[in-house]
Amino acid sequence: MSVKTELLGDLLTGIVEEKVKIVDLTQILNEETPVIQLPPPFKNTGGFKFKKLSEYDEDGPVCYWNDFEAGEHCGTHFDAPVHWVSGKDGDSVDTMPVKNMFGEACVIDITKKVEENPDYCLSIDDIKKFEATHGEIPSHSFVIIHTGWDQYNSNSEKYFNIGEDGQPHTPGISKEASIFLVEERDILGVGVETVGTDAGIAGSFDPPFPNHHYMHQANKYGIAQLSNIDKLPPRGAVLVVNPLKIERGSGSPLRVLALIER
Ligand code: MN
Repeated sequence: MSVKTELLGDLLTGIVEEKVKIVDLTQILNEETPVIQLPPPFKNTGGFKFKKLSEYDEDGPVCYWNDFEAGEHCGTHFDAPVHWVSGKDGDSVDTMPVKNMFGEACVIDITKKVEENPDYCLSIDDIKKFEATHGEIPSHSFVIIHTGWDQYNSNSEKYFNIGEDGQPHTPGISKEASIFLVEERDILGVGVETVGTDAGIAGSFDPPFPNHHYMHQANKYGIAQLSNIDKLPPRGAVLVVNPLKIERGSGSPLRVLALIER
């Protein structure tokens, strides 16, 4: 091992010797990757598009490469504070401090409640119950809402779960819980398995999409479309969440990695 300093040397040894397991929390990015669909009058973001340039053929005998096109909020992705009007003076993906791309994952499991009610929103009571068992959620951490929704990510119909009322019925977080996590816990942001960090029906809440409103107003983040959340412990995993450095980007596709000490 070439790293001689103690902390980083130990970390690298742990990774190489697999005492630190790395779990990929990212959905595969292709033309079928689900992308949020907003009702009119909202303009919608584009999905992932792939255009081959060459593949060891007449357009490039020795190389394979492609162009791609994708919305900032496509696949597993980041919501920066400027994504929301309440956070318009906050950070974009290029200006957020890089140390905020690293944080402990506090994983709150509400899968049972979501099975009974797909509109279920994480409550302060759920947070308090988690803390009674696992300790207080520290500042500079990511709260990951484990809903089980990732199981539908290759089935658009179930993933969006549009009801007879024309509304998407997917889980989220209550306004009170968002305010609590911002004001009382000073977290970095929340992560979810659905297309957005608010419930599907949260457009009708007051204010609309309250988690976006309160998190981004406080210059905090959102991570959407996470995968493999069931492989995380309730506490102790460290997330690496690094967006592309898009100038004034409101978001970015991500490769989210979790480091878990065995
Ligand atoms: Mn988004």
